[in-house]
Amino acid sequence: MKGQPPQTVPAFQDHQQVIFESMIEGLLLLDEHGRIQLANRAFADLFGITSDIRGWTVIEVLRLHELAALVNSLETQKQVSGFEIKVPGPTERWLQINAAAIYNGGGKRHGTVLVFHDLTRLKQLENARQEFVANVSHELRTPLSLIKGYAETLLDGAKDNPETATRFLQTIDRNAERLRLLIEDLLTISELETGRVRLNIQTVALAQAVAEVLEDFKSRAAAKGMTLVNQAADLPVRADPGRLEQILGNIVDNAIKYGRAGGTVSVGGRASDTGQVEVFIQDDGPGIPPEALERVFERFYRVDKARSREQGGTGLGLAIVKHLVQSHGGRVWATSRPGCGATFYFSL
Ligand code: ADP
Repeated sequence: MKGQPPQTVPAFQDHQQVIFESMIEGLLLLDEHGRIQLANRAFADLFGITSDIRGWTVIEVLRLHELAALVNSLETQKQVSGFEIKVPGPTERWLQINAAAIYNGGGKRHGTVLVFHDLTRLKQLENARQEFVANVSHELRTPLSLIKGYAETLLDGAKDNPETATRFLQTIDRNAERLRLLIEDLLTISELETGRVRLNIQTVALAQAVAEVLEDFKSRAAAKGMTLVNQAADLPVRADPGRLEQILGNIVDNAIKYGRAGGTVSVGGRASDTGQVEVFIQDDGPGIPPEALERVFERFYRVDKARSREQGGTGLGLAIVKHLVQSHGGRVWATSRPGCGATFYFSL
């Protein structure tokens, strides 16, 4: 050992410092009196600490009584794993802490080491997933209980009256169709979210793509006395033709569903200053209140629940549109003057 260079110890400490600073987890080292000896950068970032906190206690720095209690509990137990705390504040955080008491060679308590793992993102995802499952169950339950209720009434004797039976069977059929649409939309969302959708990007003639979509909706519009107008410029766009049709179809479908009977739906597109193509779909219906303009793209968000259900809506159409537009590298948004209609835009 004699021949070793004197810088061995500092080099080792440097090494340790680099390891601590490069950790994703927050690290806190306390001395035997519970005073902070070392806090790495991740810890400072986690709690927004900008000053030197060495020499302070956990409670002085963070004011988190649960954390102080955790440190105290290490008087009686050597180690605590997976301790979770919620840190209040403007942006609520979830942290998981692993803590251990450090003993010297003589078995005397020497200090404490705490490792902080940020669980916020994970918790948010978990909450979103739970909310989604609750929403899906609710959406499936409504048509299903109607189907069951009407089928039972038919079996209980309503089938003997042909007129009543036909009406009940129509309700069953309508709700079965709602279930089918919902499941189809859920499968599309799942495909989009798991990245299983491959785009087949080609050059598409916008005016022609719009014309084809409007042709498909001609009879639906006619049933409401609505006029469909194609104002799209004869522009080439780079898109997956099938997906572009789906995007346009969903927004035009909404414009007919929620637009004014006897009104007009116009679809147009032009090249924007950024070199992208901007497409719009405008109706002259009741429009969308300002506070809902961004929310309509959320899954299952509806301005008027009863209206959407009555129109056979799943509440997923615009969420699918948003995914599809984003996977083309574009953006989708809506503007509206309540009472004067809504306009949906997307860029490609
Ligand atoms: P839905 O299946 O309910 O139509 P969407 O995701 O397609 O679901 O739309 C979400 C909600 O946005 C609709 O329920 C409706 O309240 C509102 N909305 C969409 N398009 C229009 C429109 N053109 N005019 C007024 N409201 C609209």
